[in-house]
Amino acid sequence: MATKFKKPIYVTRPILPNPKKIQQGIMEIWESKQLTNVGEKHRELSSKLSSYFGNNNISLFNNGTTALMLLLKKLNLKGEVITTPFTFPATTHSLTWNNLTPVFCDIETDTMNIDADKIEKLITPKTSAILAVHIFGTPCNVQKIESLSKKYKIKVVYDAAHAFGVEVSGKNISDYGDGSIFSFHATKLFHTVEGGAVVAKNKNLIKQLNIEKNFGIEAPEKIRSAGINGKLNELQALVGLEVLKNIKKEQKERKRIKNIYIKRLKDIDGISFYVKPKNVKENFQYFVVRINKKVFGISRDELVKKLIKYNVFPSKYFYPLVSSYPHYKNLKNSNIENLNNAKLIATEVLALPFYGDLTNADVENICDILKKLKK
Ligand SMILES: *Cc1c(COP(=O)(O)O)cnc(C)c1O
Repeated sequence: MATKFKKPIYVTRPILPNPKKIQQGIMEIWESKQLTNVGEKHRELSSKLSSYFGNNNISLFNNGTTALMLLLKKLNLKGEVITTPFTFPATTHSLTWNNLTPVFCDIETDTMNIDADKIEKLITPKTSAILAVHIFGTPCNVQKIESLSKKYKIKVVYDAAHAFGVEVSGKNISDYGDGSIFSFHATKLFHTVEGGAVVAKNKNLIKQLNIEKNFGIEAPEKIRSAGINGKLNELQALVGLEVLKNIKKEQKERKRIKNIYIKRLKDIDGISFYVKPKNVKENFQYFVVRINKKVFGISRDELVKKLIKYNVFPSKYFYPLVSSYPHYKNLKNSNIENLNNAKLIATEVLALPFYGDLTNADVENICDILKKLKK
């Protein structure tokens, strides 16, 4: 049909739990009179998430960026860290806040993740870690990255902000690397309005992070390090507890939507999408396509302008590349010749509206609009 939507259709909408449940939870918090500093809701969320991740070593944070900054700090990294230019600013900025130099590595065109086969030639005596991102929830080549980490004795940190609930070969994504961070921002599948977590294998690392996020206070009269305030408060934890109950249902709806997209878009030349391998359990965080200008007839950017006229607001995640920001563009590896795949992907990628409240008719209409806009 290809008709203009009456109301704007955005790329995502947060899971909004039943407000009565939130009110009830607020009453409990009011009675306890404890609003933050690791209260009952925080402990309950931490324990529920431990079961979800299958790992007791978890530390909750006020957001994913603080979680990443402190994880990098507590791993005592120095010098250079090999990372992807195709990500959200938080990934790379966390390195900068730790006085670490990002070394950008090109990405794979299919997964859009750091190309593990191109990492080795970037390793120097100054390299202390690899910071990889499971972009859009698609797992990185975790095996290859692990073998590099062993061979060169460097750490591996995963920005798993998009990968809540993702599994590889039956294992939770957080089982890989020296530590993973998750973002619980409202745009993420699981959220606490704002929030985040570190999940790691090393119990002592988590213990140190718990101290670090509380100003470095180890005991009332014992301040161990120059920490910061990174705590998740009771209201955030309450929202998280209720959102967690809705995850399965939301994923079911998103699966329905994804199936329509795939069915309707697979025959439109110039639109392509990644098909996940069988050993990966996906989380339905995003639905992302690539627009090949030559075949589709118009560029991704022209398409976005036209979609807006239909009241459809997709997102150019992640454009521009981090390596082109003023802060990073003069680094030696920001040279675009080293980053050909990333450069191409950044101009083609488009995250389509993807949230459980979209009806079949909505999704079909979006597909019809896309079909109509093809030249
Ligand atoms: C959302 C996000 C983060 C962290 O964001 P916060 O808003 O601080 O929770 C980090 N990395 C990526 C790739 C993200 O998308």
